[in-house]
Amino acid sequence: MRYEGGCFCGKLRYAFEAGDIPCADCHCTLCRRTSGAPYVSWLVVPAEAFSYTAGSPKLLQSSDDGTRYFCEHCGTHVACTIKTHPEVVDVTLGSMDRPDAFTPTITVFEDTRLPGVVTHAMGKS
Ligand SMILES: [Zn+2]
Ligand SMILES: [Zn+2]
Repeated sequence: MRYEGGCFCGKLRYAFEAGDIPCADCHCTLCRRTSGAPYVSWLVVPAEAFSYTAGSPKLLQSSDDGTRYFCEHCGTHVACTIKTHPEVVDVTLGSMDRPDAFTPTITVFEDTRLPGVVTHAMGKS
């Protein structure tokens, strides 16, 4: 299946081909602070299947290993890469044109999950 997505203003667009790929809710403090949301849902996309189709992202080195990719015009975060896992690109579920195409089934950084935050992945981790 081919999937497309992009930022809020539409200047940064991406596409990827994927089958059944993991979707995880991340409750880490970096996702929280960079998004301003309690947690972020991520798709784990094979790097060779992912490309930008419009614009090019601005980069934020959010940790020693992690780089986040966002639109320089509207600020939407669309992707993240981790140095130790160059074979995948993490894509924000919320930036997809059809975010309902995937359901998070994994919870990560459960130890820093905010009290009261309920996710689809809860009870399955
Ligand atoms: Zn934008
Ligand atoms: Zn995170």
